[in-house]
Amino acid sequence: MSDTVMDPVCGMQIRTQDAAASEEHEGRTFYFCSKACHDTFVANPHRYGHPAEEHGHH
Ligand SMILES: [Zn+2]
Repeated sequence: MSDTVMDPVCGMQIRTQDAAASEEHEGRTFYFCSKACHDTFVANPHRYGHPAEEHGHH
């Protein structure tokens, strides 16, 4: 049984056990396909940490 999640930076579907890196942001854990995606996320977590907000406004 695998747990598949989306890399928020590149949009790739990855399994948590295959993730190259992970990062907690505002109480959620995000997983990344590569160190490069992790570095991109860490540099700008607010850009990538809220994918659901792309389709809605406050
Ligand atoms: Zn990625």
